[in-house]
This record gives sequence, structure tokens and C-alpha cells, in this order.
Amino acid sequence: MSQVRLRFAPSPTGFLHVGGARTALFNWLLARKQNGKFILRIEDTDVARSTQQSVDAILEGMTWLGLDWDEGPFYQSDNFPLYKEYVQKLLDAGKAYKCYCSAEELEAKREKALQEGGKPKYDGTCRNLPPAEDGRPYVVRFKAPQEGSTSWNDLIKGRISFENAELDDLIIQRTDGTPTYNFVVVIDDATMGITTVIRGDDHVNNTPRQILLYEALEVPVPAFAHVPMILGADKARLSKRHGATSVMAYRDMGFLPEALVNYLVRLGWSCGDEEIFSLDDLIQKFSIENVGRSAGVFNTEKLLWLNAHYIKNGDVKRLAGLLVPFMKERGVDPEKGPELSAVVKTLLERAKTMLELADGALFYYQEELAYDEKGVAKFFNADTAGLLTLLVDKLSGVERLDAPSIEAVFKEICEEKGIKLGQIGPAVRLALSGSTASPGIYEMIEVLGLDETRTRIQRAIKQLVG
Ligand code: GLU
Repeated sequence: MSQVRLRFAPSPTGFLHVGGARTALFNWLLARKQNGKFILRIEDTDVARSTQQSVDAILEGMTWLGLDWDEGPFYQSDNFPLYKEYVQKLLDAGKAYKCYCSAEELEAKREKALQEGGKPKYDGTCRNLPPAEDGRPYVVRFKAPQEGSTSWNDLIKGRISFENAELDDLIIQRTDGTPTYNFVVVIDDATMGITTVIRGDDHVNNTPRQILLYEALEVPVPAFAHVPMILGADKARLSKRHGATSVMAYRDMGFLPEALVNYLVRLGWSCGDEEIFSLDDLIQKFSIENVGRSAGVFNTEKLLWLNAHYIKNGDVKRLAGLLVPFMKERGVDPEKGPELSAVVKTLLERAKTMLELADGALFYYQEELAYDEKGVAKFFNADTAGLLTLLVDKLSGVERLDAPSIEAVFKEICEEKGIKLGQIGPAVRLALSGSTASPGIYEMIEVLGLDETRTRIQRAIKQLVG
């Protein structure tokens, strides 16, 4: 079998949308699964709406998700001579023609057709004119077949068919000489040797026109797979109204790329009851035939659940690296204080997002703690202060301060004083973290180290008991 070639072809008119990211992912997965090529093409022929900033945002989003491309990015704006060449080819072959109808004439014809209850399609006035070079402005139209039908077996939606009579003689080149969208997509996909086109199902109506162009150019027609849209909870197409739609906004909200990838692929594709898929799993198991036909509804709760899973099972060093910008945003330099990866290790169990992880890590780096008032009233008094002082004394005598030896010290104190852990634990939490809902006490002390633990306990006693 010859090598598969897939592409993602975003228009750089905004950030990378989660829907676009999912389309990119499906293409990428299929290319990786079949040892093919994944090509990135920037569809920037709409010069007025395309921006470099958007190109950068799209590349950033793809890179963050781990979707590397083998060829490109190619820019359609670099290909204008190529498009011109193909327009000429079709003109020379009599498969396209110059149309001199003015915008006003066309509008009048449209109105008339609508009034007569017909389809407002081009009436073919210039279809059979003899070639002329008289300097009048013209567009170039594709001479589409007017009979028969155009169909394809969509890899997701099944067989789709359009009557050719419904399709217009598509304009492929405008009066100013620039090519139009459906035409350039075909030229690019054909010249780049794309074997399968996976794209959003908002392009279904373009496909029959594109197929007719492939046929006219006598080049192989690729396979098509049209992916259903992503909807919001109200079943309307996912938009800003529903919350964040940009991939990078999810990073900023503290999601891990692997969680978003897992979520987006599962939103529309399934493999039995499995929920957790690494990229490698996906490469093995993904198949376009198992993408569902109906639109997926974006569910933030499920994404959070996956994110919590990936944080809990994440590599602490990597998580610490990813956490640094979130700490800096909170005014903390994690270089000054306990090692961030050790801190992260104590917090993995509870955090659903990197923001929660960062918030949870803050106290390790703060000198001034805001002590939880209710907790203080309940758990802090002269007796507990005495116990805390004893704790510091005993910890000072421990040779290697790690969680098991710290636990042993607590046991010793409880036995000596005939108390339960609950009579000292909450006060320790308060003194060290300011809160009664902190990570495990032993782990926390291990990470803070003896000196910092002593400082915090002394400070708390001074401030809270006096
Ligand atoms: N540029 C188009 C878009 O962003 C994609 C076209 C295609 O995939 O064929 O919707």
C-alpha cells in the first residue's frame, strides 16, 4: 500500500479552536498509525482576515498538544503562481471559461430566479462564448457537469450524494486574478498528494464541488472523512458563549495537554469502555471508522476528571516544570524555597488543575501565612503550643528527617502524652500551612525541612498564643 498523507489546513483567522484541534488530532493519529505523513498547511488566501499572530497561535497550540508535522507549514499565499497555472490548464482544456457578467447583472439574475421560485444559480450566459481577449473584466468559472450526481463514501458519515444540477459553475478565479477557496484546496491537496481529507463537517457541501474539480484535473480523488461538530451543553455549536474554546486557554486554566488530547479524541471516538488513552495508545487503537456520526457535547466535568487523573499519575519533575509559570503568576519564585518537585509530590492527590496545584503549593513559599481563624479557635491553645514545642525538640534529634521517621516522632509524642494524633495534627497543619486542609503532615515536614518547620511553629505560637 502506498503511504498515506494527511493534512491539517487551518485558516489563520483566530486561535486554535478545540474543534480544529480535534480535527488536527484525528489527521495526526491516522498518519502516525499508518506510518504516513502529516502535513500542515496554512490557508491564508483570505489576506484581509489572516494574521501572523494567528499563525503563531495555531503553531503554538499544535506544539503544546504534541502534534508534530512532517512537512510544512506551507502557506497558500506562496502558491499563487501554481493556482494561476492550473486555472490556465482548465481554460486551455475547455473545462473552465471566462465569465464577463457584472456583479449587477448577476444580482439581477439572482433576484429573478428567486422570484420565479428557482435556485439562484448561475444561468450559464458565458458558458459557451468563444474565447475573447477584449480587456473586459472577467472571472473564471469551472464548467461543472450539469447532469448526473457526485457521490463519495464518507469514512464517517457513509455514502453522500449531490445532484450535479444543484451545483453552480463555481468561480475559481476572481476579477482581480486571485483564486477562490474551493479551488485552491483542491490544487493543494492534489499537488501535495493528500490521500485522506479529514475535516469538519461544515465542509460537506464543498466536497462535491471539489470532487468535480479533481475529476476535471484528472487526478486521484482523496478519501473524505467529515467530523461532526463539537456542541455546547445547550446543543448549539460550541462557541465562546459556552466558555473557553481556544486550546491555549485550556493550558492557562491549568489543563495538561495529555488530558485535553485524551478528552478531545474520546469526544467522538470510542474503543469499548476505555476512557484513559495516552498518545501511544491512541496511535495504536484509533480508527476513523469508529468516529461517531453524531456531534459530541463538550463536558468540562469529564475533562476535569481526566486532568485530575493525569496530574495524579504525572511525572513530578515534569509537573514541577509546567507549574513554574503558574507560581510566578502568583508572585512566587519557586527557586527560593523547597524544591518544587518535592512540593508537587505532596499535592498530586487532590489537584484537578495546575491552578489548584499552584494554589496548593503557595504556602510552602510564603513567610506570612493567613491562618484559618476557625481552625485556630478550635485547635490552637497553650496546650497544643506545648505539644508543638515538644515536637520541634524531638524532630531536632532525628538523624534523617523523612516521612517514616517523622511519623515515628508523632507516635512517640502521642504515647508519652497519652493523646491521639487528632489532638496535635490539626495544630501542626495550621502552623505549617495556615490551613487545616493541607497535604500529609509527615510529607509536609519532610519537604519543609527541620529549620523551616521550627521557624513556622515558633512563629505560629508567637502569633496565635502569644
Ligand atoms: N481552512 C479550512 C478551515 O479552517 C479547512 C479546509 C479543509 O480542511 O479542507 O475550516
